[in-house]
Amino acid sequence: MNPSRSVDRALTLLKSEKDDEYFLLKLLPQPASCCCSDCWPNTWREINRTIAPAQPVPHEGDSLITVGAVPLVIESHESGPEIILLLTQWCSQIASLLKPISEIVSTFAKSLSRERPKGLARIRIESYRVSQGQATHIAKLDVDFPLDKRTVDTINSTIQDMLTKNTEGGNQH
Ligand SMILES: [Zn+2]
Repeated sequence: MNPSRSVDRALTLLKSEKDDEYFLLKLLPQPASCCCSDCWPNTWREINRTIAPAQPVPHEGDSLITVGAVPLVIESHESGPEIILLLTQWCSQIASLLKPISEIVSTFAKSLSRERPKGLARIRIESYRVSQGQATHIAKLDVDFPLDKRTVDTINSTIQDMLTKNTEGGNQH
């Protein structure tokens, strides 16, 4: 995967600049397999229901959703879905963003655990920071299927942790 290319894809929807700083969450199936809406039909249907009234994420396309007052982009890639947001906006709104973003990720995980496309055994969740077009890998979490309630709680708390830690050293606008 190439996080800075994903950011390039999100610029228009976010109305932002390549030089801005971004936070990116990536979901990677293990073993690797295609994650498009044909291969994950139930999961993408569930995500689209969750983000309504925002536009459904098109097949291998992008959707802009608003959490609180903060825009973020969900991208459908064959290699795995991505969530991209602008660091500066997110730093100032972090309290209102933690829960909704972790819930999007846990919705993916819960739906995949039910759908188990191609016998999917595990999903890896990675976080990146992209600054001036350069990506820095921050953290990762491996989630084994099927999910239990405790693992869902772990996903939510870990994602919130990834988001919180990333405010350190961020641009203070
Ligand atoms: Zn596919």
